[in-house]
Amino acid sequence: MPHSVAGPEIERLIQLLARLPGLGPRSARRAALHLIKRREQLLGPLTEAIRVAHERIVVCSECGNVDTADPCTICRDERRDASIIVVVEDVSDLWALERAGALTARYHVLGGVLSPLDGVRPEHLNLDKLVARAARPEVREVILALNATVDGQTTAHYITELLAHMPVRVTRLAHGVPVGGELDYLDEGTLAAAIRQRTTF
Ligand code: ZN
Repeated sequence: MPHSVAGPEIERLIQLLARLPGLGPRSARRAALHLIKRREQLLGPLTEAIRVAHERIVVCSECGNVDTADPCTICRDERRDASIIVVVEDVSDLWALERAGALTARYHVLGGVLSPLDGVRPEHLNLDKLVARAARPEVREVILALNATVDGQTTAHYITELLAHMPVRVTRLAHGVPVGGELDYLDEGTLAAAIRQRTTF
């Protein structure tokens, strides 16, 4: 056990920072020192931003997104296409799709995917609300933007069954050659999926 180089308050700051994704104990120490050195310009504003976020963050009762308002910014945005709902596993996927900027639709955050191994069953996911939303007359398409993993695809099949009796079109993301990808480097599963889902040029 190495000797402490600072008081318990600073050690606690380092321990908490080390729990952040991408930060190990070493980079947490560097981050803590950086904050301490910039107490006025950075540590103060960051403390305030974290306090405000902690106070105001809510889960959107409509789509399951996190924001500081309910309904969230996306659900309140009238310019978005209300006829399309994009189903994602997690808020991070929603943010990724928004960064891609390929469509301005509404979202639905499941809060996980079905996983027999991890004991995640349908009742653990935000599915009832999805069915209710998909039944609304303005909704014409549900895009399943789930990970191309076994659990992601199992969940996609489950939702497809769930919505089968409704007049909505259920689609999923294409699997295949990534932009800038070389065929020679792709695994067989990806190549086979790309061939099966070929599109007219
Ligand atoms: Zn929302």
